[in-house]
Amino acid sequence: MARSELDSDIQFLPGVGPKRAELLKKELGISTFGDLIRLYPFRYIDRSSIIQIASIRPDMAYVQIRGKVLRSELIRGKRLSVIISDGTGELETVFFKGIKWTMEKLKEGNEFIFFGKPASFNGRINIVHPEIDPVSAASAQAAAGKGTMTGVYTSTERLKNSGITGKVMNRMQAAALEAALTSIRESLPEYILKEKGLVPIHYALRNIHFPSDMAALEKAKYRLKFEELFFLQLSLLKQKYVRSRNGQGIPMPKVGEAFNLCYNALPFDLTGAQKRVITEIREDMRSGHQMNRLLQGDVGSGKTMVAVLCALIAYGNGYQTCIMAPTEVLAQQHYKNISKYLENTGVKAALLTGSSRTAERREVHSGLEDGSIGIIVGTHALIEDNVIFRNLGLAIIDEQHRFGVEQRSKLWRKSSCGIPPHILVMTATPIPRTLAMTLYGDLDVSVIDELPPGRKPVQTMHAFEGKRNALYKFMRDQIALGRQIFVVYPLIFESEKMDYQNLENGYEQIVQAFPFPPYRTAIVHGKQSNDDKRFNMEAFASGRADILVATSVIEVGVDVPNASVMVIESSERFGLSQLHQLRGRVGRGSEKSYCVLMTGNKLSKESRHRIGLMCATENGFELAEEDMKMRGPGDIEGTQQSGLPISLNIASLAKDGIILNDARIYAEKILENDPDLSSDRNFALREELRKDKYNIRDYSKIS
Ligand code: ADP
Ligand code: MG
Repeated sequence: MARSELDSDIQFLPGVGPKRAELLKKELGISTFGDLIRLYPFRYIDRSSIIQIASIRPDMAYVQIRGKVLRSELIRGKRLSVIISDGTGELETVFFKGIKWTMEKLKEGNEFIFFGKPASFNGRINIVHPEIDPVSAASAQAAAGKGTMTGVYTSTERLKNSGITGKVMNRMQAAALEAALTSIRESLPEYILKEKGLVPIHYALRNIHFPSDMAALEKAKYRLKFEELFFLQLSLLKQKYVRSRNGQGIPMPKVGEAFNLCYNALPFDLTGAQKRVITEIREDMRSGHQMNRLLQGDVGSGKTMVAVLCALIAYGNGYQTCIMAPTEVLAQQHYKNISKYLENTGVKAALLTGSSRTAERREVHSGLEDGSIGIIVGTHALIEDNVIFRNLGLAIIDEQHRFGVEQRSKLWRKSSCGIPPHILVMTATPIPRTLAMTLYGDLDVSVIDELPPGRKPVQTMHAFEGKRNALYKFMRDQIALGRQIFVVYPLIFESEKMDYQNLENGYEQIVQAFPFPPYRTAIVHGKQSNDDKRFNMEAFASGRADILVATSVIEVGVDVPNASVMVIESSERFGLSQLHQLRGRVGRGSEKSYCVLMTGNKLSKESRHRIGLMCATENGFELAEEDMKMRGPGDIEGTQQSGLPISLNIASLAKDGIILNDARIYAEKILENDPDLSSDRNFALREELRKDKYNIRDYSKIS
């Protein structure tokens, strides 16, 4: 078969050649005509709109001016300054390159269309290296029915220096489309185009680069976004289908007596969300297929409770459960809580961490091997090679993003019967739905979206630095009521000297404002010895200290119900999800709780927005959605290490949630009728999914 035009080397595109080809490859990863066509504009300029010089501001994006050349001056033979005017004002345009050519072209008294980005130089506005067109160009384009919207593409300094300007890029795109568009085949079957009201691929590609008008552009965008999200979901869901058909799991048909004993002894009713989630998990565990489920729920929503009940189901079927936590503190806390729930059930639990003593460790090892330990709680120590289970049936991983892929697969292999254990991943970091659908698109997701009753909301307030005295008065009043207070300083970079300086100054300030006696202040940070840390933590946890000054290390795992005030210093430096996690440290007791967000007196618009959101809502999912909108999906906590499985070219998880949802439901429907996509009408889908990019390694990140 003849190679398609799409695969033609980009150097053969008119106007490119070997030198530019190399740059295009290096700077933008473009090696073929097809690659170029798939580089879409990130913005459009309406070339029909002309702005008046008098209304130009230096912070504006690209502008277009129709101006007459008043005069030019060559300054020190290096810089050409051309002053233009449109009757409303004068503007300087500056050229460092192509001076001779520009001088010849920009004759005094002639009129041109100038296009460029305003900047401020020595307090004056100018435009460096504007594009220059004859006045007739825009109207000629419009007359030719070509539309007046021009695409703007990502570029780099080096590309611009080698002459690949915006205009050149537009010309290249036009040439590539002319040469290769017809060899691009439609990736969506006719019936999908019809059912979803999508424009054909050729129409979409032509109009994404050269929109004939606004409506055509919208249709093109929609089609390309839908297609991208649809294939991503289709590939994820297909893997899930394959696994649920082939992935053998340990059948656990019974609930068992231990479950009932624990359940009936609970001092409270499960929330509706907890019940629903347990039912979902129970269905998985008895299905005979391996469970791969993500359990999301805000701090305090009762995930541990759910974990214990699931472990007891495994126990009731004769299997052991391991529960892994990311830190020693968390493992200990889990162990303490879990042991409480297990009283009266006759199930033996044990703890294994890096600091377990040798004798203890030996005992635990043999208890796991002979099966006398039913539930083991621990850290990474659990996956060491010398830990052998009699019959591991369920692995519960808390805060999975802190575990590496290799560690998880080690856990997997600990099964003794050859069938992998069921896997439940728990996370308290709310992940926006659209992100979860993509990051964990092939996992089943359960959400506990309801807090146990009786929990009091945390009142969140914002205070500027200038209000520090009022803050201290508020703190004294709270301490007089018998409450305890966290004061947290940002520690963005562990090694950052300045952060420690801030912390230490802050501590000094607090000790001065809250002198001993009667006040006691403890301090915890990462540079202390473990003994110092423990001593200070205990002083606060036991109620001997009124105030705990800390870095954000307390984010994970401190449970002090009597602490009802969280003061976050320099809170503008924290991300939303981190602020939310910190706030989750209070509001655990019976008293009304507060979170005070301190900020400097000057705040950026974005920080103001973030702080405002924190004051407005306690819903972690809402905050996560907003965080993603502000920072983009790549920066959301929990996704940094793993990253997105596929880089999206045009769709955005933050902005295109509705299309994503629609695409997923539609993909599900198609797979339900044709799980292998083997029918004739789905031929194109099958072909598309063969592409390398859908061969996603290690997708679920837990199996
Ligand atoms: P998470 O692990 O999601 O942070 P936990 O399981 O630690 O939450 O639960 C937080 C607290 O709420 C614990 O003290 C737990 O005993 C309690 N709890 C859990 N479920 C309920 C419920 N349905 N009703 C009342 N209290 C509950
Ligand atoms: Mg917990």
